[in-house]
This record gives sequence, C-alpha cells and structure tokens, in this order.
Amino acid sequence: MKNFVCIPKALQLVLDDIGWFYGADQRSAGLPSRTGINRLHVLEDYQVVEALGKAIGQKINCMLVIGEWDREGVLRKVPNSNKWGEDWNGSLYYRPLEAEKILDFLNSSEHIEFGFHGLLHDAWTDDGKFLCDGEFYLPEGFEKGKAKRLVSDDHLRKHFDAFYQIYENVGFKGKIRSFASPCGIKEDPADGRLTAILHEYGIRFWHNNISEKMCAFPSFVQNGVIFNKKAISLCPWEVYDLDPDMIPTYDPSKSGIIGGHWVNLMRYNPKRNFEYLDGWVRFFQRQTRVFGHILSKDVEFAHFQQLYHFYSKIEETENGVLIDLSAVDAILPDGIRPPLYVSIQTKAGKPICKNGVMTVYEEKIDPMKFKEGFCNYKIERNGSSIVEIHFEA
Ligand SMILES: [Zn+2]
Repeated sequence: MKNFVCIPKALQLVLDDIGWFYGADQRSAGLPSRTGINRLHVLEDYQVVEALGKAIGQKINCMLVIGEWDREGVLRKVPNSNKWGEDWNGSLYYRPLEAEKILDFLNSSEHIEFGFHGLLHDAWTDDGKFLCDGEFYLPEGFEKGKAKRLVSDDHLRKHFDAFYQIYENVGFKGKIRSFASPCGIKEDPADGRLTAILHEYGIRFWHNNISEKMCAFPSFVQNGVIFNKKAISLCPWEVYDLDPDMIPTYDPSKSGIIGGHWVNLMRYNPKRNFEYLDGWVRFFQRQTRVFGHILSKDVEFAHFQQLYHFYSKIEETENGVLIDLSAVDAILPDGIRPPLYVSIQTKAGKPICKNGVMTVYEEKIDPMKFKEGFCNYKIERNGSSIVEIHFEA
C-alpha cells in the first residue's frame, strides 16, 4: 500500500528578474545583467505571465528587480546599488506611458505575485565600478575575486528599506511575502542572519538554488521563514523563444520549485509572446500527470507542501498507511497546520481518512486506460500529527 500513496512535490513556477524596462545584459559596460534580451520590455511581457497563471490556476511568483522604477532618487542614498552613486538620476529606459500601463495592469492582476529580488540586481564599488553579479553576497573587502559573503545587517537593511520605499512610491499593491537572492546563495545560511532580516520585513518564504555542499537541507525553517531549494532550473537564464514542448518531463525525486527567468516566457517579438501559451499549459499538464507531482496554487502552497514532503513519514498498516507529521509540526512557524495534499493511486481502492477531513482535490486518470491513474486529495488537519488512511476492500 505504501507505494500507492505519496506526498507529492508542488510544482511552483518562480520567475526571476522581472521589472526591468530594458533587457540587454550590459555587464561588459559596467551596467546590470538585466534579463538578457536585447530589446525594451513592454506590457505584453507581463501579460504573458498573467495569461499563463490564469490558464493553469497558479499565482506565478515573480521576483522583482525594482531599481528602474525609482523616479525619486531613492537609490542615491543606497551604498553599492548603482554605477552613479549619489548622482543616480533614474533609468535611461524608464518610459512613463508604458510604466503607467504596466502598473495598472499589475495592480489588477490575479496571477502575478511579486517577490523581493533586488534593487539593480548587481553591485558597484563606491567609485562606480561594476563589482559583481548579485546584490547581497559580495566579495570580502569589496575586492574582486575574494570569497563572497553575506553583506552586513546594516547594508541589507539599507537595500531592503529602499526596495519597499520604491515599491510604495510607484504605487505597487500586493504584499511581498517571498524572497530570492540575486545570483543565488554564496555562503551557508546556518547563522540565520538573512532569515532574521527577511522575517523583520514580513517575508515568510525564501527560495534559491543552493548546492548540497553548502547546505545539506533542501527544505528548512529558520527564524519563522521557510526555505525551499529551487529544485529545477528551467533552462539557461537568458533563453527566450523557448518552445516548452522541448523541455523534458521531470523526475519527482529531483523536482519541486521550478526556477525560471521572466525572459524564458518571452518571444523576441513581444506581439508573439502568446504563441507558446498553449505549449506552456501542455508543459504543466504533462508534469502533473506524473505520480509525485502536484500543481502549486501559489508560493505558500508550494513551501508548505514541500515541507510536508521532506519531513513526513509514511508507514504501512494492515489495510492502509499512517502518515506521521510530527517532525513537520515541530517546525511549522506560528503553530499553523496548513492542509496536506496526498496522491493515491486508484488501484489502491477507496481511501478513508481518520484524523482529518479528506476530499478529492483533482483526478489524474489516464483517459486511454479506464481506472488507471491517481487522485490528489486535500486533507484539512484536525490537530493530530498522525493521519491514518485505510482502504475499503
Ligand atoms: Zn536574478
């Protein structure tokens, strides 16, 4: 019976580097890495994300780089945030009419959820030279080539304060509850310094790619913030015109949060952004037909479900299974008990759940093979750390 039941990983799309007005990677000229597409960004680049989220029923987590929206000179006071330092005078590429259209669109969007990524994504020395990619892990002594370390708490707070100040100045709505460090994590997060700051600013979910060598845990809770590794890298970061039918079907033992970039959904011609939309829907349908995957609703769904996946134990009983959630209950922040999603193969028989209210969430039955497939069930917790499921003969 044990093989017929699993706690699936939630597939959540996270798109980094959204928010730029221009795409070209200008690092060779001492300017930001941006999105890597050599054209201006327009409303259609946001519309395609919203359309995909709507089509699959997911709030797509879009990690915002906000610096080019700064019209009030907030960045002038933020150390190492831009090439011009105190002479920062806004982005050359900011276009007020396009910005107004984009802002109106975003503030009525239901399937784009912004997360915190950075100001201008990268770092500059005090005298305006490009220091490195990434904003929060900088080389020791700000000397190129030295090992990268998390910047001081004071440095972090100046960048965080500026981000929220610009967010408010622009008039963006929607609470920021997630974070991804630009260019990943360069130091073991065990000291908890970054999660303490994230929590202070109201962020509860953090995802980044991280090597096993740096941190053995793909999923953990620290200072009330849930971290989950970006398990899948969708494709190289700067790829656009990507045909989603070319992307493989993932192995659930290695998948989870899907780390992509905004530009991966784009066509070079933005008017043609929507041509691969059906392909992207097929891509998600294909992934979620695999036993071991479930489509995430939003960033919260994904982080809770991944914790359940990694910290639960499934044991076999005489006519069913027992799911022991005590390890996850011990670390879930604020004593919350979010719903648990389980996948059960139809050949196991009709499941009956004790210690929780179980309802059919979605059916994944192979239309060509009657009665073959699996169902995803939602279990509303009732306070017990043990969930027992047995099968009617
Ligand atoms: Zn990035």
